[in-house]
Formats: sequence, C-alpha cells, structure tokens
Amino acid sequence: MALIACPKCRKRISDKAESCQHCHEVLVGDPEKIRTGARIKRIEKSARLMTYSFFALIMFIAGIAYSGMYAETGASWDKWGSQIVSGVGFIWYIVLRVQIMLFKKEKD
Ligand SMILES: [Zn+2]
Repeated sequence: MALIACPKCRKRISDKAESCQHCHEVLVGDPEKIRTGARIKRIEKSARLMTYSFFALIMFIAGIAYSGMYAETGASWDKWGSQIVSGVGFIWYIVLRVQIMLFKKEKD
C-alpha cells in the first residue's frame, strides 16, 4: 500500500482509498490516473504562479520606468501613481516568489 497526495487537498492518503478521508474527494479509478491528475494540477498551479510573478515584475519595472520619466516634473498624479504601481508590483512579486519557493518544497 502506497501513500499518494489527494488531488484536491493534497494530504497523504492511501492509493487504495476510494475517497479522501480529509476532504472526502471521491477517488475512484486507477491510482496512476489520480496521480497524473494531481501532477497536472501542480503544473497548472506552478504555471499560474509563474505568470503572476511575471506580471508583478512587469508592473514593478513599468512603474519605476514611468516614475523615472516624470522625476523632473515634480509631484504629480502620474509620478505618485507609477510609484504606487511599482510598490504594489514589488510586494506582489516577493509574495509570489515566496509562494513558488514553498510550492517547490512541497512533496509530490
Ligand atoms: Zn483530500
């Protein structure tokens, strides 16, 4: 009897179980299929995190660049707005990187 990760809640369950004892997800079908399903979900989540972190980085860089262009004109909505955008992008990027790091540590 082997332990696999539940495709829904990702807790450890027996590959012989017909349903997850944690979230009650029904797991009928062959374990290889379930494992593949869980793997696909992982890849999709990973791709989503990577896409978000890409957008966060773009926000950060675009905000900095835009703010730099308006640096000489003094305080303006454009300048403050772009600084806020870059700040949000930066924080979002850091949060996503931490999520990606934790996600990669997670066992299959
Ligand atoms: Zn579950």
